[in-house]
Amino acid sequence: MKVQGMAARQQGATLEPYSYELGSPQVFDCLIKVQACGLCHSDIHMVDNDWEMTEYPIVPGHEAIGEVVELGSSVTHLQVGDRVGVGWQGGACLQCDDCLRGNENLCDHHEATIIRGPGGFADYLMVDARFAFPIPAGIEARSAGPLLCGGITVYSGLRQGGMTSGQEIGIIGVGGLGHMAVQFASRLGNRVTVFTTSQDKADLAEQLGAHEAIVVPKGESPPPGEGKLDLILSTVPADLDWGAYAEHLKSNGALTFVGVPNSGELTLPFWSLLMKQRRIVPSIIGGRPRIREMLSVAERFGIEPMVEEFPLERVNEAIAKVRDNTIRYRAVLTVG
Ligand code: NAP
Ligand code: ZN
Repeated sequence: MKVQGMAARQQGATLEPYSYELGSPQVFDCLIKVQACGLCHSDIHMVDNDWEMTEYPIVPGHEAIGEVVELGSSVTHLQVGDRVGVGWQGGACLQCDDCLRGNENLCDHHEATIIRGPGGFADYLMVDARFAFPIPAGIEARSAGPLLCGGITVYSGLRQGGMTSGQEIGIIGVGGLGHMAVQFASRLGNRVTVFTTSQDKADLAEQLGAHEAIVVPKGESPPPGEGKLDLILSTVPADLDWGAYAEHLKSNGALTFVGVPNSGELTLPFWSLLMKQRRIVPSIIGGRPRIREMLSVAERFGIEPMVEEFPLERVNEAIAKVRDNTIRYRAVLTVG
């Protein structure tokens, strides 16, 4: 079938209409009629080839929600008409030790939705049905998309860093990921401190559930730490003064990374870790059991991204708002 999407034809290009053929679903595939798709900063990293793995043209979009319209012959857990969501991961071997432990996100054969094929900035999306998740009835389509990448990434990152309840949690960056992290951490019974570059987000952070907000202007270091946080989650796509943030952690606290520093390097004084046995914990999206758990936590605790909706044709406007950090807080493209 002929599909209409929006693609970047070269590095850093604005997205343009692009039509392409999608064949019939393979045995485990599912064809989705896309209703809405979130715009994650990783889509922009891919358009810009920041991670040196982009092949053009690229159709971004990996927070897609839609209706199942066709299924491969071996798919039994979904029905035509189901509402499903797809995130960053679109495939894995499902046989290695990591996959068998439910850590498909760590599989050596991990495939990204927007690398294995065209993504969700289109009217239809073909995915491996084993990475398409039924969306609980209590979650709206516009909210569900951002949960499938941004939401699982911060929920799993917080869990990886050791979040339980009754803790002191720091969140660096109140963007698409960060504003959902504030909600997960606070609704699950933690005291949340936000580090943000802007006063307006510091003011809004309270509405999201933060108890304290510290403004750290771009390029500056945070104020001296008092060593009171159990965990800090960085959602920032930049290189910050990580040693100064580590000083905000208690003994054995975890400096947890989901944001990808743009240098691709992590530099901090070893002493800022050693003397208090502080830990560095990187975290990448989440496995399938974690995604199901996150969706039910989000539904039960009413965790919803705050979104700005744009019709798909206006995707470049949405990208510009993410690039200049004026989006509040996640852009969602609506299709059809
Ligand atoms: P986003 O909406 O652009 O939010 C990033 C936030 O970081 C901004 O809102 C801003 O927060 C802060 N920030 C940006 N530049 C900064 C700078 N130079 N100095 C200090 N703070 C800065 O992006 P996102 O969609 O949330 O994605 C964030 C990062 O996570 C990206 O690197 C993305 O690729 C990565 N990611 C990782 C995974 C994973 O599995 N690990 C999954 C999805 C995304 P304030 O305005 O509050 O300062
Ligand atoms: Zn993403």
